[in-house]
Amino acid sequence: MKAAVCYGPDDVRVEEIDDPSPCGGEVKIAVAAVGVCHTDLSMATGAVPVPYPIVLGHEGAGVVVETGPGVSGVAVGDHVVCSIIGPCEQCFYCLRGQPSLCERAPLFTGTMLDGTTRLSKDGRPIHTLHYQGSYAEAAIVPERFVTPIRRDAPLDVVCGLACGITTGLGAAMMRAGVVAGSSVVVVGAGGVGLSTMLGARFRGATTVVAVDVVARKAERAVELGVATHAVDASACDPVAAVLEATAGRGADYGFDAAGMTGTLDQVVAATRPGGTCVVIGRSMAEVRVTLDTTVLLQQRTVTGTFGGSVHPRRHLPEFVDLYMQGALDIGALLDARYTLDDAVTALDDLHHGRNTRGVIVMG
Ligand SMILES: [Zn+2]
Ligand SMILES: [Zn+2]
Repeated sequence: MKAAVCYGPDDVRVEEIDDPSPCGGEVKIAVAAVGVCHTDLSMATGAVPVPYPIVLGHEGAGVVVETGPGVSGVAVGDHVVCSIIGPCEQCFYCLRGQPSLCERAPLFTGTMLDGTTRLSKDGRPIHTLHYQGSYAEAAIVPERFVTPIRRDAPLDVVCGLACGITTGLGAAMMRAGVVAGSSVVVVGAGGVGLSTMLGARFRGATTVVAVDVVARKAERAVELGVATHAVDASACDPVAAVLEATAGRGADYGFDAAGMTGTLDQVVAATRPGGTCVVIGRSMAEVRVTLDTTVLLQQRTVTGTFGGSVHPRRHLPEFVDLYMQGALDIGALLDARYTLDDAVTALDDLHHGRNTRGVIVMG
């Protein structure tokens, strides 16, 4: 099968590799589409260390073509969306309803759950990004990282629910619990930030301020209808702009979708006493923050999320239904399509801000 294999920093090659087979508890998916996410980029450039060679891709959707021994919740022919959250349903956190903190799904190991690899080229092992490696015509995925969905949903749109779009929607809808009539600021208007704004608007937020250091990205949020205000953080003080939009009080909810040094400080300063600040992601370098305890004495909540804090098998089909009913337009966020042969271009376009939500569609 054809796959985009990363052999080292800035060395991604689209080539033929061996056809893989699932082991116990795993399924084989004919990948229909896969989102292009910053995490893929961070590994392709070497910013995040992973074992090479590795097949990138962790936002896959497709059709199950084979199941390994012991698979019971997914069948051949099922349309599925993968997930970066794969709850074991048995550990400390899963039993407490916090599947995104599952203890039995370590990040970025490059192997399958049992520590071995499924992919190879001429018999030499190739690693897999986050139990999936979906920059390929087929992916081997543990059953618990896969969610069956309705068959009439377009896989090139819903694949983003595997990671980026769900992370944003869940940050607003599940983690923060945005309520109707509220005000929201989102720093970072890339794919995850736009998804956060979409989730906030879906929940009825009436003021949504999109902040980005690239003016065009913030303006696009307003054009898409997910934000009411666009703020160019390279040209003005975003905190002052949010205060102006919220009667001088600050937003009810603030989200840091940029994860750069200083962006959480902006979010906290732009959020009112009693408000909630959520860290959604970070650039892969370590980011530290120093808080004046007044921020907390004024009863702000400062927290974060992994993967939108969703339970994939519960929330992903709900998001798909809302999209299909026209109530949650995740399709509008897509702005670039590629073939698998163009995987390097897709990553390069993301790197240089030429797309916000790109998708690779298999031929
Ligand atoms: Zn668990
Ligand atoms: Zn991702």
